[in-house]
Amino acid sequence: MKIEELTIKKINTGLLKKEFSAVEICKAYLTQIKKRDKEISAFLTVSEEMALSLAKKVDEQISEKKEISMISGIPAAIKDNILVEGLKCTASSKILENYTAPYDATVIKKLKNQGVVILGKTNMDEFAMGSSTENSAYFTTKNPHDLKRVPGGSSGGSAAAVAGNLCVFALGSDTGGSIRQPASFCGVVGLKPTYGAVSRYGLMAFASSLDQIGPLAKTVDDCQIVFEEISGKDKMDSTSLEIPKVESGNLEIGKLKLGVPKEYFVKGMDAKVEKIIKEAIKKYEEMGARVEEISLPNAEYALACYYIIAPAEASANLARYDGIKYGYSVADENENANLLDVYLKSRGGGFGDEVRRRIMLGTYTLSSGYYDAYYLRAQKVRTLIKNDFEKAFKSVDAILTPVSPTPAFKIGEKTKDPLTMYLSDIFTISINLAGLPAISLPAGKVDGLPVGLQIIGNYFEEEKIFKIGKILEKNA
Ligand code: GLN
Repeated sequence: MKIEELTIKKINTGLLKKEFSAVEICKAYLTQIKKRDKEISAFLTVSEEMALSLAKKVDEQISEKKEISMISGIPAAIKDNILVEGLKCTASSKILENYTAPYDATVIKKLKNQGVVILGKTNMDEFAMGSSTENSAYFTTKNPHDLKRVPGGSSGGSAAAVAGNLCVFALGSDTGGSIRQPASFCGVVGLKPTYGAVSRYGLMAFASSLDQIGPLAKTVDDCQIVFEEISGKDKMDSTSLEIPKVESGNLEIGKLKLGVPKEYFVKGMDAKVEKIIKEAIKKYEEMGARVEEISLPNAEYALACYYIIAPAEASANLARYDGIKYGYSVADENENANLLDVYLKSRGGGFGDEVRRRIMLGTYTLSSGYYDAYYLRAQKVRTLIKNDFEKAFKSVDAILTPVSPTPAFKIGEKTKDPLTMYLSDIFTISINLAGLPAISLPAGKVDGLPVGLQIIGNYFEEEKIFKIGKILEKNA
């Protein structure tokens, strides 16, 4: 069987029928990484030894006729801001260059318990701040569809690893679009779960009220399988929740009501991308779904609101990298450095430009005198954005939008101007502010480059958006 065609279910069936062993599958992926990752550069760390020993355990269980789960023996890649015990975890930052994770994140514990084979850690924008992986302190990951282009970000390594068939699925994190935008750029499926659906314990915090871990895979079905394995309440994360059983309603396509927000077809959007999204929406309509125009009037404030709230939370979360507790420290090089020097020089030398920019923005908006005008006001706008969605979901089952206004851009194209980089998240950010689930799935191609459709669901209606996604996937 060709590696490009493997899915979780196909590997599971093959393992049970003894067509191949978990070690053989693992080796096939390790070989693929050796061959292709030289040009893609998706991985920061390849954990060959750990992967082979996890795969061996699965083979032992099979030979002892023990029951294995659907994801046993499935090779996966993990974004480098999620802790895997014993592996380096850098968040693509110099400040954590020599940091080794002392424990497993809850999602990793869950995956390991089910026999998932962890192949390694993937490249990202430093501390998940960015949309292209160009903010990695190590190297830029290339888009497997065109090596001159970015894979998106910040989970660009994870998306490129799936698209390049270097793993079956990957985990990413999404604070403002970091799973969905790279999924769209790399032509894979990516889910940002409902806030609280997946434990954040062991995820390096960027903006805690927005961050969620989610899967990237080749198919909606694979994404769903992984999501079901990693979700659920965790006592180590008080914001996590047991997923309430939401009646996914009658999902006959004839009764499906889909909303298309008029504010999402904006000036400056690539006309070819718009055409593909409109065609995908039309497909749903032709199959019998009712498509109606809706309005999210506060959507235009989402970007401004996010770039106040996310840096504010980041400035607080990143205060822990102080050159004392762990990570890079000038005190290691200079015994005579005084305390202030240790703080300032370790942080100044350890963090990259974008991270420093966000810390400064966040510190400014939180400082007394500015707090009310910026942070407090942004929180109020956040509520308005959330209310818009709540109103919309009274009349529609799901909302369809583009993921990104353009396909993957060229490496270097936006690095000079942070504002144009921020704009590439214009369609994904409001979903994090509202805490809703959304999936990005391939809708077509523009000049050979993939374009993703975003399906936004109501709280905890992941199952519904998976079903709606599968309809398009089947009819692509
Ligand atoms: N690109 C956005 C940012 O730079 C979102 C990042 C993310 O979702 N982690 O903040």
